[in-house]
Amino acid sequence: FKESLQEIADVAPVTLDQSLVNLHANINSIMEIDQVIRNGASGVGLFRTEYLYMDRDSLPTEDEQFEVYRHAAIQLKGRPIVVRTLDIGGDKKLDYLPLAKEDNPFLGYRAIRISLDRSELFLAQLRAILRASHYGNVKIMYPMITSLDEVRQAKTLLERAKADLTERGVPFNPDIEVGLTIEVPAAALIADVLATEVNFMSIGTNDLVQYVLAVDRMNETIAHLYNPYHPAVIRMLKLVIDAGKRAGIPVGVCGEMAGDIRALPIWLGLGIEELSISVQTLLQVKHRLLASDSAVCKTLVDRILVCRTSDEIIELLTETEHKES
Ligand code: PEP
Ligand code: MG
Repeated sequence: FKESLQEIADVAPVTLDQSLVNLHANINSIMEIDQVIRNGASGVGLFRTEYLYMDRDSLPTEDEQFEVYRHAAIQLKGRPIVVRTLDIGGDKKLDYLPLAKEDNPFLGYRAIRISLDRSELFLAQLRAILRASHYGNVKIMYPMITSLDEVRQAKTLLERAKADLTERGVPFNPDIEVGLTIEVPAAALIADVLATEVNFMSIGTNDLVQYVLAVDRMNETIAHLYNPYHPAVIRMLKLVIDAGKRAGIPVGVCGEMAGDIRALPIWLGLGIEELSISVQTLLQVKHRLLASDSAVCKTLVDRILVCRTSDEIIELLTETEHKES
């Protein structure tokens, strides 16, 4: 099966009724880019840059980061790469950047909250990403946005980073695209407002599910309650995707749910434009995508949206799977 999957690596990611869904890859390291290309991904939809900051004794410098981002941009030969700014806190720690102990780290000092609070750290990363944008199709994405204010603050700092580089005479793409992740219910509920400030949005279902359901994604005792098929999650996904469409900006998904084969009809039915998936599962999703009909998925999603429980939703999805095979 694996070998035959490789044969579809270069086939366009379109459904039977010609709906195009860009299949991008999630990467944690630039070592994965070879595989991104081999598996025919249209680009990198999520580069988790925190791994550049982990397993070392000090912050990576602007130059060190620039080399990594530039290398990635060049290797991808014009395919887009979405560089997500530092997302630490929660479960991810940096030994050399001690953070105060918190009772609820996932509700605490995390991701963009840290970046906005420590602007020197953030500015160095923004300058590094901007410099790399001169060498390929590089985009910036802000994690864990909760309010319009945070987006605006991040954009102000981005303008400062651009001004610094202009002053230094260093080239960068002045029109670099900027996006944000929708991972917090507050952001999902004001997605229409946030959409007016950015070029694209990406739904981080790993965190969104945990925050919508109040279920810690790391807590094994309640792992059975972590359910992406809860009707509240599906309604929220629809809200965000519809908001993006009305605003005329693309919406993608970068959480694990994007690579969950069973969830694919939901994405197709909701009209998603991009799925960003780990390189390992990308071709399996593509295999099902090529055999799917988006009009059929739309009808299915209409039925899913009136389901009252996750069991009802999963039953409909399982039925669809059986009909396909
Ligand atoms: C997410 O929350 O869905 C996501 C993609 O981010 P991470 O898994 O890195 O928190
Ligand atoms: Mg997340």
